[in-house]
Amino acid sequence: MSQNAMEANATETEPQVGSSQDDDVMVEVRDLRTYYEGEGLFGGTPVKAVDGVSFDIKRGETLGLVGESGCGKSTLGRTLIQLESATGGEIRFDGTDITTLSGADLKKWRRNAQMVFQDPDSSLNDRMTIGEIVREPLDVHDWKTPRERRQHVKELLDTVGLQREHYYRYPHQFSGGQRQRIGIARTLTLEPEFIVLDEPVSALDVSVQAEVINLLEDLQEEFGLTYLFIAHDLSVVRHICDRVAVMYLGNIMEIGPTEELFANPANPYTHSLLSAIPEPDPSAHKDRITLHGTPPSPRFPPDGCPFSTRCPARIRPPEYENLDNDLWVQLDTLREVLRERDRAEKSVTDRIRELLGKEPRFGTIEEIYGELFDEHDVPADVQEILDETADLARDEGEIAALDRLGEEFGSVCEGYDPDTGGENEDTDDPVAPEYYTVSPTGRRSFCHRHDPSAEYAEPDQVLDERH
Ligand code: ADP
Repeated sequence: MSQNAMEANATETEPQVGSSQDDDVMVEVRDLRTYYEGEGLFGGTPVKAVDGVSFDIKRGETLGLVGESGCGKSTLGRTLIQLESATGGEIRFDGTDITTLSGADLKKWRRNAQMVFQDPDSSLNDRMTIGEIVREPLDVHDWKTPRERRQHVKELLDTVGLQREHYYRYPHQFSGGQRQRIGIARTLTLEPEFIVLDEPVSALDVSVQAEVINLLEDLQEEFGLTYLFIAHDLSVVRHICDRVAVMYLGNIMEIGPTEELFANPANPYTHSLLSAIPEPDPSAHKDRITLHGTPPSPRFPPDGCPFSTRCPARIRPPEYENLDNDLWVQLDTLREVLRERDRAEKSVTDRIRELLGKEPRFGTIEEIYGELFDEHDVPADVQEILDETADLARDEGEIAALDRLGEEFGSVCEGYDPDTGGENEDTDDPVAPEYYTVSPTGRRSFCHRHDPSAEYAEPDQVLDERH
């Protein structure tokens, strides 16, 4: 960490959550969780769609939310405006925890926070006129007189680049871009301060994407709006967002000013995500980071850092620091296969298959080990562990083998989730250590490698060496 960053930290009294203190904070999110209760096959195991996130949104800014499909972006956006109820944590809007609101208070608050959806086709009712669609929120809130409502809606159509005459037309008479404008007009009717934009241009033709983005930027300026902008298209995010939060498996891995984060990512997951963007200039040198395996199920997230099962910069025990990278990847794959087997064996369908005498879905332990390691030059000490864990998997089950593999090849990365600060993991008020603030701008990156006391190499250094 730079001297400046340390000085910035030294003046803090509260844990920083991705913004600097003197800014006007509108939304404070603390340890927010949204779980979907499990049913059927997995019994009571919930999907941990959002699993403990803390960050601030400043008044008038656009905060981007990026990450692979299924990482919890929509759920987080929906929870912020209470379309989904939080399982735990707080969302304070101008100091009021809105997760505790209900009835008339909630209805009143809802006017402040709205959402624009990805798909303008399915979010507009085809049997209502444009006027009725845009006016509906005003009717629900019994806003002024019918005449004033009509007038207000016509003005809004104007504001979003449609015509007043469109009031009496139906959605199917409009193009995709125009339909998204209708959705945006509807969002604005109650004069909200905060809008969640959930992939607002992803379903549109490239040619109209820029028009809608420009409209959103103009509206933000005109009405002083604050946006949470959810997107998987990183170039759009880079263009429109002041700050970006990078999500993985229900957690925020890194959050900070957009340009800084894109130019100089601190977290191994941000590195991986950004390295997947095609370079406009093919001669430009950029190392692509290949991520192995698939994200774990949000029903069964890893115990430690959420990215630990796939992280190319995962901390290794010192004696394996120089182990061949390909072999290391195979060891990771072995652990992933064993975890999957353990889970699959719990599933009802597999038990039924077994009962029916059908072939199990996976090969024998010997086949798995053979496929993963036969073509690799395995050092004797590693081979010993492999033999030992193959026996354990066969005789005592996958968990016994996984425990042994974890003991041998695991590290702090699998020990605890960085953003909980370890010992605080089970409390309601986790405090992440200040060394996760990686720049004087307040940028935060949750990776154990930032812990200065442990003297690990920084993630970018390790990624350079390993790729
Ligand atoms: P993203 O927006 O990043 O694609 P989502 O928030 O839609 O991610 O989903 C996060 C996780 O929650 C996914 O595993 C998804 O399958 C699950 N999920 C989303 N909505 C529901 C729901 N209503 N019931 C159960 N699981 C859900």
